[in-house]
Amino acid sequence: MSQAPDASVSAAPAAPPGEFDLIARYFRRPAERALLGVGDDCALLQAEADQQWAISTDMLVEGRHFLAGTDPRRLGHKALAVNLSDLAAMGARPHSFLLALALPAADEAWLEAFSAGLFELAGQHGIELVGGDTTRGPLNLCLTVLGLVPAGSALRRDAARAGDDLWISGVPGEARLALGHLRGEWTLEAAALEHALARLEQPTPRVALGLALRGIAHAAIDVSDGLLGDLGHVLRASEVGAEVRADALPRGPVLAAQPEARRRACQLAGGDDYELLFTAPAARRADVLTAAAAAGTQVSRIGSVHAAPELRLIDAAGRSIDTEFCSFDHFALP
Ligand code: ADP
Ligand code: MG
Repeated sequence: MSQAPDASVSAAPAAPPGEFDLIARYFRRPAERALLGVGDDCALLQAEADQQWAISTDMLVEGRHFLAGTDPRRLGHKALAVNLSDLAAMGARPHSFLLALALPAADEAWLEAFSAGLFELAGQHGIELVGGDTTRGPLNLCLTVLGLVPAGSALRRDAARAGDDLWISGVPGEARLALGHLRGEWTLEAAALEHALARLEQPTPRVALGLALRGIAHAAIDVSDGLLGDLGHVLRASEVGAEVRADALPRGPVLAAQPEARRRACQLAGGDDYELLFTAPAARRADVLTAAAAAGTQVSRIGSVHAAPELRLIDAAGRSIDTEFCSFDHFALP
């Protein structure tokens, strides 16, 4: 986009770094996989035979997706992590990403820490920044990720089948526990807070698990808005129903120490954990466990998929639990 000179990000008063200085300093790295990376009008990527592009965008807005004053290094990690999580949920291998950034000011300490967090995670996943846009405005981070998946083998939301098991990775609910503390809804003691806060601010995208599940899992989704709500997306897309066993939800010591109502609300309706929720044929249970072990990720079998298009939550005795839990909806909140 062409821009008037005063639209570039600059710091007053002396020797203001312009938009291009900032890009060169904080976001330009030698291209390794791209034919052409940051610096031209477009990046150039080599199309690969028998592979499909998996492409996704996620925007993080200050005050909505993260609190003002969030540690910029952690924010750099999280901005990429939530996007990598979408690739994981499709079983796609991360390839490259773009970063559109609105900044209130050219705060170099902030940019230094933000880009360090961003590139640290990028390096771990061999994903490369190939372009973006930088402008002045309220703090807003919009990343677009590109991944590759062999033709026809993506893990789609519409592929759940009656008879599948329902699985979840990790321990969903811990991020919501941290958020509740930050919002003053409850108080966590120091060690629990530290653990939960790391889950909220530095989620681990389950990329290795997504890759390992190709050819084994049927449907997959990453849980960003709450387990039951995101499960609902899979069920609607697949035109099936499911039964979730509340007692089979993984808890870990921090969730286990919470009062039951709070724990369940966090487990079932808490967002921001970025765990993978997936279905796989009951006959592939051993393969799921082998794939999870190879990926170094804990998985739990929490229910099953049925033909009747309804979502039931049941207790250890198989009785239905009434629940008004719904997923986080940005437009439903004040
Ligand atoms: P254009 O005028 O074509 O939009 P820009 O001047 O916005 O180009 O950007 C110049 C180059 O810097 C482009 O290659 C663009 O992809 C890259 N770029 C701009 N902002 C970022 C950013 N935040 N991260 C990575 N690359 C960026
Ligand atoms: Mg531009």
